[in-house]
Amino acid sequence: MIPFNKPYLTGKEMHYMYEAVYTGKISGNGIFTKKCQNFLKNRFGFGKCLLTTSCTDALEMAAILIDLKPGDEVIMPSFTFVSTANAFVLRGAKIIFADSRKDHPGMDEDSLSSLITDKTRAIVPVHYAGVACDMDKIMELAEKHNLYVIEDAAQAIDSYYTGKDGIKRPLGSIGHLAAFSFHETKNIISGEGGMLSINDPQFEDRAEIIWEKGTNRSAFFRGEVDKYGWVDMGSSFLPSDIIAAFLYAQLENLDDIQSKRKDIWNRYDNSFRNKIDLVGGVKLPFVPNFGTNNGHMYYLICSSESERNQLITHLKNNNILSVFHYLSLHKSEFYFKESKVKELKESDHFSDCLIRLPMFYELSDLDQVHIIQSVLDFYK
Ligand SMILES: *Cc1c(COP(=O)(O)O)cnc(C)c1O
Repeated sequence: MIPFNKPYLTGKEMHYMYEAVYTGKISGNGIFTKKCQNFLKNRFGFGKCLLTTSCTDALEMAAILIDLKPGDEVIMPSFTFVSTANAFVLRGAKIIFADSRKDHPGMDEDSLSSLITDKTRAIVPVHYAGVACDMDKIMELAEKHNLYVIEDAAQAIDSYYTGKDGIKRPLGSIGHLAAFSFHETKNIISGEGGMLSINDPQFEDRAEIIWEKGTNRSAFFRGEVDKYGWVDMGSSFLPSDIIAAFLYAQLENLDDIQSKRKDIWNRYDNSFRNKIDLVGGVKLPFVPNFGTNNGHMYYLICSSESERNQLITHLKNNNILSVFHYLSLHKSEFYFKESKVKELKESDHFSDCLIRLPMFYELSDLDQVHIIQSVLDFYK
């Protein structure tokens, strides 16, 4: 069976983990944590970077940082992972779900202004498949209504947005805060792992405190205060340096990993474009002019749910594991009992019709040819 995903090891992970262990400092905020944070900051021009144990944790930190009060509203797409919503639900916020674009599972930027009320505090764009949301539109709206923007950049490492000013900026560097994931299903991995980038300097000091269980421990170790204590709310959001050591080996190979993944993505796309998209209304991934593709995911949009499910079965019969993706959160059992929302047609369409094909560094040419041929056969 060709798996849907297979975590890729660059070769140096165990070496660096051994080094971390051998150095004798394996709790959080050690040498490898700093190496990773510096790498990410220098490479992508993020604000302050803090590694976390997951993207979920980074989002939870963001929700604490913007001081959400019960009843505050946060706008995000319905077509996303539960963590995007949970982080804000944990602070008592009410989630307002936006529909997806017609041409892409990312949220419809033009629908956002109608969702803003006097209780709205934040907008959380999710860069689905690593493809940018239209950040100019979102940032302008946020500025007008005095809202925070927290990018869920879980899938978006090394992907970019070109705004009206013609400047190409890395995703995760644009919103006030941004959360990344290094879960084993993402491009750059550490098993579980994540990062919060703090692009708005007003949050820098407090982020570090929340990260270190509500203490000013980091400032103490820099010699900025003469004792450390409990100064704010917080939790244990920082990963062990063993995890950071693993991650550092991955980051050192970022360019290789990205070029390989983009090759695989392009091979799918070149094999399908002007072929299956000309029959039966199959849609191939769309990347708007303002965005880039970071080789995170290759998906197809089938013309119906039954066609999608038949394709999954057909591929399984050919020893290929393909999978659907998010079930719209506005229809989830948890959310539905709280508040009924109007229909979100596009989000439901992507829940019903989207299929993701195997996409991982070690996918062999031979296996990929087999996957491509099996999809072409299905549409013949
Ligand atoms: C993977 C993912 C998350 C969660 O990341 P973890 O590191 O597993 O917590 C959140 N949002 C999106 C859009 C994701 O793809």
